[in-house]
Amino acid sequence: MNYTDWTDIATRLNALALPLEDEGQYNTAKLLRAITESLARRAAYAAEKPADKNSIVAELARLDSDLARLEVNADVRAALQNGAASFAQGKLTRFRDIPNPYVCRTCGHLVLDEPKENCPTCGARPETFIKFMPNYWFDALDPFEAMTTMKQTPARFAELVENRTEQELERLPENGGWAIRNVIMHLRDAQGVLAFRVNLIVEQENPPLESLAVYAWADKPQEKPETTRDIFDAYMNSRRETIHTLENIPLKDWWRTGQHQEFGQVTLRQQVSYFISHEITHLPQVDALLA
Ligand SMILES: [Zn+2]
Repeated sequence: MNYTDWTDIATRLNALALPLEDEGQYNTAKLLRAITESLARRAAYAAEKPADKNSIVAELARLDSDLARLEVNADVRAALQNGAASFAQGKLTRFRDIPNPYVCRTCGHLVLDEPKENCPTCGARPETFIKFMPNYWFDALDPFEAMTTMKQTPARFAELVENRTEQELERLPENGGWAIRNVIMHLRDAQGVLAFRVNLIVEQENPPLESLAVYAWADKPQEKPETTRDIFDAYMNSRRETIHTLENIPLKDWWRTGQHQEFGQVTLRQQVSYFISHEITHLPQVDALLA
C-alpha cells in the first residue's frame, strides 16, 4: 500500500468537514474526521520505527527543526525536548514540565496547558479546544461502568488461581512472559495503589498522589503474603473495601480531585477509570495462561 499522498487527502477531507459542520451535516463531517484520523494512524503503523531508546531520542532531536519550520510553538517544542531528555536519562516526566496540550478544533492552534482566552488565530472559545490526556484510560469508564467492571473482572483472575498447585502458579510460561503468580502480584499492587488513592481523595482536599502505599508495603516483608492464593485473597479483600467505599460516597464525590505528580489534576472518577481499564488490559494474558 502506498501512503505517500495521504497528507494531501487528509487535508482535503478535514477542509470539507468544516463547511459541512457549519451546514449542520455532522454525521457526514464525523466520517471525514474519522477517515483523517485513520489515515494518520495507518501511515504511522506502517512506518519504520526507531529500534531502541537512543534512536528515539535522536529522532526527537532531529524533528525539532521540522517542527520549527511548521511553526509549532517554541514552548511546546521545548517541552518535547525536555521529555526526550528525561527519556534519555531513564526518568519519567513531571506534569509541571509537560502539562496537557490543547488543540483548537477549528484552526489547529496548539497550546500547552488549559486555554483561558479565545483562540488567537480564529477566535474560537477556549472550552471548544480538544484536550490531550496522557492515556485514554482516564476517561474510558464512567462511574457506573467502572463499578460494574471492578466487580466482574476479579472472577476472571480467580480462574487462574483455582485448582492449581503453588508450583503450577509459579511456573513461567514456555513462550515467555509472566507466571500466574506475577500477574496476581501485579494486580494486587495496582489494586493497592487504587485503594490508597481512593481513600486519600475521599478523605482529603486535593491531596498529592504518590505511590507511597506500594513502596511502604514492599518495605515490610513480614506483611507480604506467602502463597499466590494469599496474594489473590489480599487483592480481593482490598477490592471489596474499595467497592464498599465507592458505593457509600455521593455521586458528586467522584469529581473530587487529587494532584498527580506525573499526570496533574485528576478526579476520583479518572483514577478509578484508569486502574480498572488497566486491569482489563491483563485479560488477554489470562486467556493465554488458561489456554
Ligand atoms: Zn483557533
